Amino acid sequence: TESAQPTASVARDLPGWLHAYSGKVRDLYIPSDGRTDAPADLVSASRVLVVASDRVSAFDHVLEPGIPGKGELLTTLSLWWFDRLTGIPNHLVADHEQVGSTVRELIPAPVAGRAMLCRTLDMYPIECVVRGYLTGSGWKEYVQSQSVCGIALPAGLQNGDRLPEPIYTPAWKAPMGQHDENITFERTVELVGPGIAAELRDLSLALFATAGAIAEKAGVILADTKFEFGADRLTGMTVLADEVLTSDSSRYWDADAWRTGTTPDERMASFDKQIVRDWLAARWDGTGAPPELPAEIVEQTAARYRELLERLTGA
Ligand code: ATP
Ligand code: MG
Repeated sequence: TESAQPTASVARDLPGWLHAYSGKVRDLYIPSDGRTDAPADLVSASRVLVVASDRVSAFDHVLEPGIPGKGELLTTLSLWWFDRLTGIPNHLVADHEQVGSTVRELIPAPVAGRAMLCRTLDMYPIECVVRGYLTGSGWKEYVQSQSVCGIALPAGLQNGDRLPEPIYTPAWKAPMGQHDENITFERTVELVGPGIAAELRDLSLALFATAGAIAEKAGVILADTKFEFGADRLTGMTVLADEVLTSDSSRYWDADAWRTGTTPDERMASFDKQIVRDWLAARWDGTGAPPELPAEIVEQTAARYRELLERLTGA
């Protein structure tokens, strides 16, 4: 049952599946195919179950406790967006199969609602970040160099300003334990070759434009986001993977607040974990274990995640 195992801090055992990897937020499983002791190697499996936990991370640290319902909210949002981004193949595969007259669910019941069944891709080691607005690490870079990832920007921009046009500011996906690092487009060419580098950039900018317009209709600003892509193992075709346009991978702001606000805090009223970042930044210097989140911060964060989903999907 739901309460038998924690949803947040550790990856659970799922009968029929082998735990292959845990990132800060998600746990990956591959079908066990009857094996119990085989090394759970993603490379060997054509399918991967991506399970979003309730874990929340800030400044690259996983915090305690988790945010109840977060994994489900983010999975729902991701699936909603995949449905709307039809211009490119994505990594989702059917989550049920028809056997005779019965429908068999392929996603295990304990993680139903928080999991996506996907085809395993050869992931490109690039976080395809697009920014329509200047804030976060982009703002920091701008203050120092008036550019982000090698892209020169006009002088005089403020934190939270809209950019003249969205920019592609890729980051290198560092191996576990290392921090991702902003890189230039030329560096992505070295990493994946000129054809793929250009394809990832063009797809990311196009997806961002589509999503930004959809969000705008819901009174929400999509300030920035990160996409991940991989190559289909059989065809080599580029496929949209990972989570898409969730409040973990994106910054969403209230459009009215952005228009009328005068301080950065007022302008960037966000539907993501900014509450958590702000609370933590005010009382933790980054050394030792981060403090435990108080109940009201957990509840406020959960409420913001829920509101984003309601606004976007109308649900
Ligand atoms: P962290 O978020 O802790 O920095 P992470 O991004 O590796 O690390 P998660 O986002 O929690 O961890 O886990 C998701 C992982 O699954 C990512 O490494 C992502 O690249 C990978 N992934 C997503 N979709 C696929 C796919 N279709 N095939 C293979 N790997 C995938
Ligand atoms: Mg990730």
